Amino acid sequence: MRKPIIAGNWKMNTSTSEATELVKAMKKKLVSITGVDKVLCPPFVSLSLVKDLIKGTSIKLGAQNMHYERSGAYTGEISPVMLSGLCSFVILGHSERRALFEESDQIVNKKVQAALDLQLTPIVCVGESLEQNEAGETIDVVTRQIKAAFNGVESLQGTVVAYEPIWAIGTGKAARGDQANAIHKVIRSVIAQLYDDSVAQDMRIQYGGSVTAANIAEFIGQPEIDGALVGGASLKAPEFISIVEQTSKIKKTG
Ligand code: PEP
Repeated sequence: MRKPIIAGNWKMNTSTSEATELVKAMKKKLVSITGVDKVLCPPFVSLSLVKDLIKGTSIKLGAQNMHYERSGAYTGEISPVMLSGLCSFVILGHSERRALFEESDQIVNKKVQAALDLQLTPIVCVGESLEQNEAGETIDVVTRQIKAAFNGVESLQGTVVAYEPIWAIGTGKAARGDQANAIHKVIRSVIAQLYDDSVAQDMRIQYGGSVTAANIAEFIGQPEIDGALVGGASLKAPEFISIVEQTSKIKKTG
């Protein structure tokens, strides 16, 4: 049984005081929900304060990105060494990083390796654009991204994959549960080819793209979907709590 995982990607939102308020608004309820890994991914500048606010609870902390080098002349960058000890997860290869900051598959691969070297758990994002989707290229794109991200990676150490069709991110147009489930199945089979069946069966694969409290059940009810990477809805405490609550109930009974 894979433990479901819901991660909130706050993106470039929340001042430090807003981050504090948001954590305070969800902490008590989130802590009371069992059977789900709950991960908050605030901006870098709020990692430390969120870490203190969730100390001693079951809530986990993640970063939204990092550089692959451990230190050096990379003005403005954050290294895996800086994150280790501060948080346990790191989102890598988010489509916004790939599209807006020109992160290639090769860069994502270096980041995955660098994170694992320091016992940070990557949440590796993959997903096709609308054009690629309409051209019937989804499986090829996602397969290429997965193979590239894990190229030369010996052991996945709990790595999570997030399947996020780009056309569904922040658009309000989520994929259908069965569509996403089918792609998750493909991802699992690629992982089985790269590693083995038991590694593939153990890997948690999240869906991401316009997940809300109103549609989470459709995704979580699917056998290949082990959670969600939530953007916009993770900034609203009651909605994020509801997403986590529904996930816990459905996976426990399902
Ligand atoms: C995301 O940022 O990974 C995401 C899926 O965003 P949203 O939920 O807002 O579509």
